[in-house]
Amino acid sequence: MRDGRIAEISDGALESDLDSDLDSAPDGKVVAPLDGPLVTLAEDEVLLPGIVDTHVHVNEPGRTEWEGFASATRAAVAGGVTTIIDMPLNSIPATTTVAALAIKRAVAHVQIDTGFWGGAVPENLGSLAPLHEAGVFGFKAFLTPSGVDEFGHLNAEQLERALSEIAALGSVLIVHAEDPTVLDANTNAGGRSYHSFVESRPDEAEVTAIERVIAGVRRTGARAHIVHLSSAAALPALRAARADGLPITVETCPHYLTIAEEQIPDGATQFKCCPPIRGDANRDQLWQALLDGDIDIIVTDHSPATVELKTAGDGDFAVAWGGIAGLQLGLAAVWTEAASRGIPLARVVQWMSRGPADFVGLAQKGRIAVGADADLAVFAPDERFTVHADQLLHKNPVTAYDGRELRGVVRRVWVRGAAPGAGLHLRPE
Ligand SMILES: [Zn+2]
Repeated sequence: MRDGRIAEISDGALESDLDSDLDSAPDGKVVAPLDGPLVTLAEDEVLLPGIVDTHVHVNEPGRTEWEGFASATRAAVAGGVTTIIDMPLNSIPATTTVAALAIKRAVAHVQIDTGFWGGAVPENLGSLAPLHEAGVFGFKAFLTPSGVDEFGHLNAEQLERALSEIAALGSVLIVHAEDPTVLDANTNAGGRSYHSFVESRPDEAEVTAIERVIAGVRRTGARAHIVHLSSAAALPALRAARADGLPITVETCPHYLTIAEEQIPDGATQFKCCPPIRGDANRDQLWQALLDGDIDIIVTDHSPATVELKTAGDGDFAVAWGGIAGLQLGLAAVWTEAASRGIPLARVVQWMSRGPADFVGLAQKGRIAVGADADLAVFAPDERFTVHADQLLHKNPVTAYDGRELRGVVRRVWVRGAAPGAGLHLRPE
């Protein structure tokens, strides 16, 4: 490593550009960091490009009791994550103006490199350009109420305007795609039944919303990205749109890939998120879509809240806050499930490191290559551990992964060749 970048990769080291199997590549690796003596990897360790998580709700300022930049980025390091892109909500102010972005940058003291999404809301349509020029990575929009009053959602006509504006800027619209009409027709009567909660947010809500985004992209030429795809029922429309060459990318999340509806007890609101975690067969289809290249990346959608909010309503899914805390566990959770399905670690790293870096245009992140930032994680893929929510570095000790046995332990992390601690604020390249 030199000047925070990878200076040289000697014989036998892995390139993350690998077509081949990362599992079989790394042994006897030596890493020469900036901050100390040579490090020789143990027999059971591999060297990974740090995870790039482009979907993290840090919530600071304004809801720092939910999570903050210090706690989020410490947890990220523990999970092998070396870059995050922060969502424009649930901080207050939401990142929908240049002033709000400046406020966020002023408070964002980070351990790892951190970028920021902007928001596209009814109030700022027509004036996204200044925020784009101020260095957000793109714009997040909701098609259904976001859960917080200060971040409004776009109706069909506003979605169209946002896409046109973003096409002109050459930016990207990242969309929470659930159709409010479908949701309104399936009102959750409340209660502790997880199945009733899932029925209140059916596949159809994702399918029709995604079809609307696809139609908008077709008309405007804008780049769009579907965040947290849960329903495999939307895949045929996405596959067809992409086959037509439309610039649409897709992410899913560790909780959709590693947990199934059948495993979720009634009243267990730590599993509540929107769209919901669906059934086992759906989960298999999401994995197949990753393998087929129909889903591009896996990011956590780390969206914590306080214990009070996550348990509000005493198990009533209509009352509790929806959002899953998983920043520290994403890599281990996905790797555990991937390994059980016979999927090599190299694929996981592609979906969680290189893929997200490419999605946001960070060509120096997410890869082990000469000249790339020396963002690296030492990972022991076979070591197992049990998740205890109260031992995680997330600010609030609630997570859907509590009690799970996972495999894959992050033992050491470097950010630009040094110990984490002095993260930069990133802008698009
Ligand atoms: Zn989110």
